[in-house]
Amino acid sequence: MKFYSLNNIAPDVSFKEAVINGIAPDKGLYFPRSITSLPDTFWSDIEFLEDQDIAFKAISQFVEDSLSKEELKSILKKVLDFPFPIIELDDHTSILELFHGPTLAFKDVGARFMANCLGIFSKGQNTEVTVLVATSGDTGGAVANGFIGVPGVKVVILYPSGKVSDIQERQLTTLGQNISALEVNGTFDDCQAMVKEAFLDKEITQQRKLTSANSINVARWLPQMLYYILAYKTLKKKNLPIVFSVPSGNFGNICAGMVAHRLGMPVKQFIAATNSNDTVPNYLNTRTYLPKKSVPTISNAMDVGDPSNFIRIDTLYQKSFDLLSNHLSSYSFNDDQTKKAILEVYNNYNYVMDPHGAVGFLGLKEYQKYHPETLGVFLETAHPVKFLSVVEETLNIKIPLPTEIEKLLHKEKVSIKIDKYKELKIYLLRDK
Ligand SMILES: *Cc1c(COP(=O)(O)O)cnc(C)c1O
Repeated sequence: MKFYSLNNIAPDVSFKEAVINGIAPDKGLYFPRSITSLPDTFWSDIEFLEDQDIAFKAISQFVEDSLSKEELKSILKKVLDFPFPIIELDDHTSILELFHGPTLAFKDVGARFMANCLGIFSKGQNTEVTVLVATSGDTGGAVANGFIGVPGVKVVILYPSGKVSDIQERQLTTLGQNISALEVNGTFDDCQAMVKEAFLDKEITQQRKLTSANSINVARWLPQMLYYILAYKTLKKKNLPIVFSVPSGNFGNICAGMVAHRLGMPVKQFIAATNSNDTVPNYLNTRTYLPKKSVPTISNAMDVGDPSNFIRIDTLYQKSFDLLSNHLSSYSFNDDQTKKAILEVYNNYNYVMDPHGAVGFLGLKEYQKYHPETLGVFLETAHPVKFLSVVEETLNIKIPLPTEIEKLLHKEKVSIKIDKYKELKIYLLRDK
């Protein structure tokens, strides 16, 4: 399969080139030239297939010109080595827990998939690849963890100073080796803008091979479809129309779910639940897409004012507002509502949600007011300990720390503070 640039100027590329480039030379996001549905029997008999086999069949068409069958199988084995449990709250509400990976956030799957691909693609190349990534919270840790020790790859992470949680910050500043953390005096949008500028900067790109590990990168984005497909395998037997509520920031995760839908997975509706960064819910209400500056919230991994993957979603639905709104509902919730939901679910079900999952829960409940006869699944995208102070204050309880996190608290943070783009540039161009 070839990938084309959504700006339509740059030439089509293979999966490998799309991963190495990150973004196309004309600054467009890469998108599959065509997506072929999986056979009906795949969906009707899915419960008889092994997870690895399901994953292989779902991803194959996207990577087949760049990875051998054996390579893809071995990557999937390494990537999918932790569970994605489904917890049932009641007959119409289930939670898909995606936080059982090494950094306790759902981004581990995409980050590890991409790291393993780049590890294979950079073998035998003599130029080192620099992965440049902006994070509003969880990407940094997942990418750092996925890429640590991968030969031929250096990782530079930009994060907004004081706007990520303590645990998130430690996850990206304590690894050392080939991972460096730049602490930016600004917001996530400032970090993302600096990364974009670096990709456009010829002085840098002539000397360094840069790529992104944000969900812009197809290797980060596409494997996320597996959550939905593997969940479908379990949920199918309930025989109710399935709706997925996805706490969304850059809209990569939900867009991957929509690719699964395009592969033939039966879903009634996707719900994009956002915090106060409400560009997409506003779009669905007003038909006007107005990106804005992001505002800080307690679900900080979704503090995005101009979601980069929205263009992919729009493309999947042929840029038709009607087609899109038939498949996507979107609602926004503020921090007070989010905290109330955390408390309500704890009191009613004795389940501890993190603020991102709580936004997903709220989105689901809003939708189900009008569509009660559905099987609602909301994605719990991070372990509540990653947002310890908010969750503990809201519930007035102490949450025990998993051992991985306990260990982190004894490690020393190492970061480089920067204010302006120029400092990033100097850093990237310094002697190795
Ligand atoms: C990144 C992240 C999100 C948002 O995912 P997108 O793909 O950017 O929409 C939601 N929750 C958590 C915990 C995250 O880390």
